[in-house]
This record gives sequence, C-alpha cells and structure tokens, in this order.
Amino acid sequence: MQLKLLLLICFIVSCVLLNAQNNVWNNKQCAVVLTYDDAIEQQLINALPVLDSLHLKATFYLTAYFAKNNLNDWKNVAAKGYELGNHTLFHPCNGGKGREWVKADYDLLHYSVQRMVDETRMTNVFLESLDGKKERTFAFTCGDMKVNDTSFIDVMKKDFVAARAIRNEMHSIDKVDLYNVDCYVVNNHTAAQMMEWVEKAKQTNSLLVILFHGVGGGNSLNVSVAEHSKFLHSLKQNEKDLWITTMLNAAVYIKKQQTKL
Ligand SMILES: [Zn+2]
Repeated sequence: MQLKLLLLICFIVSCVLLNAQNNVWNNKQCAVVLTYDDAIEQQLINALPVLDSLHLKATFYLTAYFAKNNLNDWKNVAAKGYELGNHTLFHPCNGGKGREWVKADYDLLHYSVQRMVDETRMTNVFLESLDGKKERTFAFTCGDMKVNDTSFIDVMKKDFVAARAIRNEMHSIDKVDLYNVDCYVVNNHTAAQMMEWVEKAKQTNSLLVILFHGVGGGNSLNVSVAEHSKFLHSLKQNEKDLWITTMLNAAVYIKKQQTKL
C-alpha cells in the first residue's frame, strides 16, 4: 500500500515538473509574436480589423518616412495596445547584395555607424510622439546588422529591449538572442503552412516570430487577406496553448527568465 502511494506521489510530481517545463511561456507552451513591417497602408486596412476583432496583440515596425502619411492611424494603433516598433527613419539597406532597388542616398554602404545610430534614435523620438513610450524593440531593415563591417546595434542596446532579425528559425527561451531574434518571413504562405510553424513552436516550446509585409497587397512579400484572416482565427482557437503577444512583452519576459537561468 505504501509503495503504491509512493509511486502515485512520484507520478504526480513528475507530471507537475513536466507541465512546468512545457509551460515556460507565461504558462503557455510557446510564444507567438506577429510583426508587420514598413508601415504599409494595407496593414491598417486589412490586418488591423482582424487583430482588433480577435483581441490579438502584435508589433508594427514603423519606418518613420513611410508612416508619415497616416500619423493619426498609427497613433490609434498604439492607443489600442499594439507596439510601435522602430524600423528606422528611411529604411536604409545594404545595396551591395544584388539589391538594385536600394537608393544610393539610403544605401548602408554609404552610411556611417553614427548616422545609422542618429537616425534610429530620431525614429524613437518620432515614435514616442505617437505613443508616449520610451521602451520598444527594433527590427533590422532587410535584416542588415552592419554598416560596412561594424555592428551598429551594439551601441544601441540600451535604446531597445530587443532587435528582430529575419532568419527563419525558432528557439527555446534559453536560446533566444534578444538582439538577433529570428523570425519567419511570410511570402504568400497559406494559413495551414503558417500553422505548421505554430505546431513546431508548441512541440519545441519556442518563441515563434512571424513577419508580415503586405496583407492583401502593398508589397511583393504578401499574404492574401483570406489566408491572413484564417491564420489569425486558427491562432485564436489555439490560444490556450499559445502566448500571443507583442515583441516588447515577449522580450521583457525572456530577459527576466534568462537572468534566472
Ligand atoms: Zn522593412
């Protein structure tokens, strides 16, 4: 009888431990962060109403130069609790990678680190004027992390809680590099394909960051309005296992958990 009781206690303890291990993300199995880049108008028209209706939160990475035409809209987005992330002032990229579309004036090959830092800090001032906040995250434009051979995020770490890159990977909480957060780039994916990423994140207790550009147009990297909506509804249906939050909230949480490890 005593042996049976001991076995039962062992079983309960291991269940509790396993459950704790599988629910490291704010008591959920994984974290899902939806990000929308480049202040594209179709995001306001086609993505925002779906997010609103499902009460899901997300991060909009604004390039100030692109956001300037819809200032009041972006102000309203912030007021609803979405994060306005920093995606630079003019969206400079390295034009030396076969990217003929990069304008010479905004080619990182012609930038200095100081210019990049100055412009990015001014973008924080611009964003603060919209949302009144001093804490936010950054997204590397075109995934470029360097001006010539020098990393510019190193000198800006105190300006941001985290920085999002564009490599298609996901990691467990102990393995997330907060200044090089990987994400999955949506390029005409279906809702079913995107849910496969979510399933993998659940199985591996990972942080899944998804990057949208155009939603129903506005960019060559696009998702249809129907598949975007279908995907968000599927996320909502699975919310008991998923912590769907902003990049900022996820990053603050990760930082706290990593200091405990
Ligand atoms: Zn961008």
